[in-house]
Amino acid sequence: YVEGTDDYDHPGATINNMRLLDAIVKKCGFRPDHIKSPQTKASEVIHELEEERDLDVKPRPPPKPSELVPRCPIVTVMGHVDHGKTTLLDALRNTSVVEQEFGGITQHIGAFSVKLSNSTQTVTFLDTPGHAAFSAMRSRGAHVTDIVVLVVAAEDGVMEQTKESIRYANEAKVPIIVAINKCDKPEANIPNTKKGLWTQGIALEEFGGEVQSVCISALKKTGLDTLVETILTQAELMQLKADPKGLVEGVVVEARTDPARGRLCTAIIQRGTLRKGSFLVAGRAWARVRGMFNEQGQVIDEAPPGVPAEIIGWRELPSAGDLILECETETKALQAVRYREQQDMKKKMEIDEIAIQQKMEEHL
Ligand code: GDP
Ligand code: MG
Repeated sequence: YVEGTDDYDHPGATINNMRLLDAIVKKCGFRPDHIKSPQTKASEVIHELEEERDLDVKPRPPPKPSELVPRCPIVTVMGHVDHGKTTLLDALRNTSVVEQEFGGITQHIGAFSVKLSNSTQTVTFLDTPGHAAFSAMRSRGAHVTDIVVLVVAAEDGVMEQTKESIRYANEAKVPIIVAINKCDKPEANIPNTKKGLWTQGIALEEFGGEVQSVCISALKKTGLDTLVETILTQAELMQLKADPKGLVEGVVVEARTDPARGRLCTAIIQRGTLRKGSFLVAGRAWARVRGMFNEQGQVIDEAPPGVPAEIIGWRELPSAGDLILECETETKALQAVRYREQQDMKKKMEIDEIAIQQKMEEHL
């Protein structure tokens, strides 16, 4: 748009006109990938933005503070191999099953909730295989984890993947709670483990820092209540909140095809409350929600923010880390998926074209 005219195709109306660029950024949520070259015409960008607005689905603008209600924390367990992550998650999961009135067979669905026996507060644990899923989600810009529980075996202390986990948590700006594990073993050296953590920049509370540590035995199931309590205290400090109303937004934690129920995914809802019959889009997959289950395989009627839910009704399989967005109608969902497919194809063709061009230039 050139000031004083309505002529998007005016010779001056290319993206290297800085004032124009500024105006577009402010007005229509323009992104850098809209510029193909300095000669990109403003009209092209505007056309693309209009198309995107009409055909794709996007997250809603952030909620007002008055629309927010408290939600439970979402926790990822990390640490060196064999330090006890799986044992800890199993122990926590089983504690929560025993408490259920209809304690059934627990399924591995990628996430589960734990409740303290004397409270209504819950903690959601992500139970995805290790760092791979965490980085997949991070690379897609999905921020699901509020707190990292760093498992360190007291017999070994800090190891290579302990350091890596600390790096991950710091990069994602997620606070750490240390679970010093295998405290039942005679070889356990807790002071040494703490010293090692301190050397890695973990400011433990007893040394004047802010990081809490809890001594546990995942195997003997000791210290687990204290660990969950510590997580809840940390969560309280963070004042985690979410908007439970309106169109749903969430993240895919895990997806698979079940022989009996078809394509399904475990999701963490981040906004709105998911109900049966909703239309969802995640990446290039879409669903009409046929039903939802908790980790005990029980049918749930709704999934509010923070609570993990297994969702059935996907027409294609979404991927871990995909953003889930609700659409008002099936038509809208289908349209969005088709638009995304087209965009991906276009991008792929552009990349191919550049590669061909480069090859030709090399040849010359
Ligand atoms: P991961 O690789 O971090 O998932 O570690 P695992 O949970 O698979 O545990 C590795 C080994 O350590 C297994 O043989 C566990 O039984 C054992 N282990 C885990 N937690 C404890 C614990 O608290 N005490 C003892 N003695 N052994 C443990
Ligand atoms: Mg494991």
